[in-house]
Amino acid sequence: MMKLRIASPQAIVDLRNVEGLKGITENDDGSITIGSMTTYYELITSDVINSKACAIAEAASQVADTQVRNWGTIGGSLAHADPAGDLPAVAVALGFEIHAASARSQRTIASDRFFRGYLETALRPNEILTGVTVPAQGAGSGCAYVKLANKASHYAVVGVAASLTIDDGGVCTSARIGITGAGPHAIRSRRAERILVGKELTESVVNRAAQRGGAELAGMFNDDVHASAEYREAMTQVYTTRAVNAAAACAVG
Ligand SMILES: Cc1cc2nc3c(=O)[nH]c(=O)nc-3n(C[C@H](O)[C@H](O)[C@H](O)COP(=O)(O)OP(=O)(O)OC[C@H]3O[C@@H](n4cnc5c(N)ncnc54)[C@H](O)[C@@H]3O)c2cc1C
Repeated sequence: MMKLRIASPQAIVDLRNVEGLKGITENDDGSITIGSMTTYYELITSDVINSKACAIAEAASQVADTQVRNWGTIGGSLAHADPAGDLPAVAVALGFEIHAASARSQRTIASDRFFRGYLETALRPNEILTGVTVPAQGAGSGCAYVKLANKASHYAVVGVAASLTIDDGGVCTSARIGITGAGPHAIRSRRAERILVGKELTESVVNRAAQRGGAELAGMFNDDVHASAEYREAMTQVYTTRAVNAAAACAVG
């Protein structure tokens, strides 16, 4: 932000040595708590994350390069809210509860209400993001993150995360889809989700859902030097199909 002259702060507070902001904990109810200063590298190498919420590790492992993955944090990624950031899509799809604190109070924000606009979140100026809770993914659940990466920066031209539950009869009982890169901020694709829930995930059902994948972004697709709005819209459909199929394979596998 400073290098690009988007921000010129008077002072910078380093959170690295603040106690209680780091680490990955599996809770008794199956949920996972992740401290805001946990790095991408720590997410990628965590057994708990890989076994219980693998889309987080999949997204973190596709961020930038080794140096960025060693330094960048989950809290920094979510608070920064880059429209092409990877973890915001996963936060939306897995239903992260995002914990914020000021000197006086603490509160929790649902991930689908956290991202408000270009580099804009629900955090107040006097709050920091202290961590997130990833709700338990029940039996028959699977998740995945796939992206079309910009070849130079690795930022998402389009990235899609999906989280599904499939019952013993092969019917999808819950679905959440998060999309990044395509629009001004990460969004939840509720219209696509509605097509999946209550049905077997046949090719035609998944394709119909993917066609609605970018419906919430109509008229808001990013159009820039990296990709036109039309291309991003088309890629949103392609990557929604891939994310849903990968999450479904994970759920039944
Ligand atoms: C070359 C390059 C390539 C990149 N490619 C990708 C990519 O492919 N995908 C991707 O997702 N990202 C990418 N990034 C961004 C990267 O993910 C950074 O990790 C991300 O910007 C956050 O960095 P950070 O954790 O060091 O936070 P910082 O850079 O320290 O902070 C980022 C912003 O968030 C605020 N902030 C940080 N932590 C908190 C907190 N706990 N509470 C409140 N506010 C906070 C800061 O004040 C600042 O405004 C790339 C970055 C670079 C330099």
